[in-house]
Amino acid sequence: MGSMLERKNHDSLDQARERMLRHDLRGRDITDPEVLRVMAEVPREEFVPSEERWRAYGNGPLPIGEGQTISQPYIVALMTQVLRVNRDCEVLEVGTGSGYQTAVLARLAKRVFTIERSLDLSAAAQAVLKKLGIDNVEFRVGDGSCGWPEERTFDRIILTAAVPEFPQPLVAQLAEAGVIVAPVGQTSVQELVVAEKHHGKLIENHVCGCRFVRLIGQHGFFD
Ligand code: SAH
Repeated sequence: MGSMLERKNHDSLDQARERMLRHDLRGRDITDPEVLRVMAEVPREEFVPSEERWRAYGNGPLPIGEGQTISQPYIVALMTQVLRVNRDCEVLEVGTGSGYQTAVLARLAKRVFTIERSLDLSAAAQAVLKKLGIDNVEFRVGDGSCGWPEERTFDRIILTAAVPEFPQPLVAQLAEAGVIVAPVGQTSVQELVVAEKHHGKLIENHVCGCRFVRLIGQHGFFD
């Protein structure tokens, strides 16, 4: 049996999660019922350092170690919404980080393939997803800007770190009629861009301004 303090913390996290859904997601432009359902289900507090648990449902990014951050809930929901993921989708995610976005995608997709350049972050994310019983995810450690290290295509591709432009190997691994979303820009402020591939070409739409850590890699930024 949990202590009274644990019970109290649990209640306030539930309340904070409710507030996030009402105020930061539904209160803005997150309307997809499946996205809202999954944002309500995945416990964000599991993906942040223990001293940040109480802040897990605030609408801000949080540190996850190695100078990296877990994106604010609104941005995770927005990227998921514009990606239009369904049960038939195989999704490639570049930048596993804490694994929170991975978990959200895994609850909507057939399968998620996620690649992270930090071995430690990938290992921590794998442990959390295992604990949550999410088993439709494949993890790799490496430079995701070069694509998944096997020849294949994906229905959806998401980059959770900023790139100067859509990396060519990722565009090549996007299936026809597939969707790719990424923060694109040269500076510390980027545009969230979503694109659909038709006849081998990307049709782009700008979603909003955003601020992400940089993707470090061959088709990203230099270290
Ligand atoms: N979606 C994550 C946020 C991750 S922050 C979450 O929900 O927590 C961006 C991540 O991209 C960092 O973990 C960083 O290590 C990783 N990254 C940076 N460059 C990369 C590359 N070339 N390939 C794979 N991952 C990369």
